[in-house]
Amino acid sequence: MKLTNKNYYSQKANQAYFSVSQVKDFLKCEAYAMAKINGEWVEPPTPPMLIGSYVDSYFEGTLEEFKNNNPDIFKKDGSLKSDFMKAEAIIARVHKEELFMKCMSGEKQVIMTGEIFGAHWKIKMDSYLPHEAIVDLKVVQKLRDVSYKNGWKQSFVEKWGYDLQLGIYQEIVRQNTGEPLPCIIAAVDKQDYPDLDCILIPDDQLEFQRNQLRWKMQRIIDVKNHNELPKRCGVCDYCRATKKLDKLILPDDLIVFTPS
Ligand SMILES: [Zn+2]
Repeated sequence: MKLTNKNYYSQKANQAYFSVSQVKDFLKCEAYAMAKINGEWVEPPTPPMLIGSYVDSYFEGTLEEFKNNNPDIFKKDGSLKSDFMKAEAIIARVHKEELFMKCMSGEKQVIMTGEIFGAHWKIKMDSYLPHEAIVDLKVVQKLRDVSYKNGWKQSFVEKWGYDLQLGIYQEIVRQNTGEPLPCIIAAVDKQDYPDLDCILIPDDQLEFQRNQLRWKMQRIIDVKNHNELPKRCGVCDYCRATKKLDKLILPDDLIVFTPS
């Protein structure tokens, strides 16, 4: 199957290829991931996602098309809703930064495919600078928010698995071009005065994330190929929406792990 910007997110493409977001779905809940692949579970984009898409489409040069496809972003009087005024402010802010604009000056939405850990993958890069860098644009809530995992501090990069995402991008680009390129996140946040930075993810962090995934991929491949039954996590939106009550439970059953 030949991937284009038109069919990249199609059900057929998602069945034929793995993507980083799909693998993240599997790591969250196998049943949920399979329901999305089969088209049984559709998630409409949330306002925060749409703000990111607005900024993405600006850089891609398709903002007019985005506005036409998303009439919900306008108020009745035809002006932008406040969330998207924020997106406009973000665009105005990043324009003042030469480094940010340099990072975002590559070829937009470049699609490549490759093979990692016995699976076919597809990637789509926000800004690809051949021989120089792979850049992904992220519009985040607050750039310097810190969270904890197993007692360790982590930034939004680790929290949302963006280091894994770029680790996969780096390997696919290497397979296509022979060059392992530096991987950068061009990040800007949604504060009234947006914070912004271009973050270089160290190569050893990219490699570490790839290796972490290596040991989980066989199970994911088996489930996706219908050779193993998907497990339900029991707590995600999909699992709650589709659960069936078949027995009484005890109070202690309510005290199970809750995903952070
Ligand atoms: Zn679930």
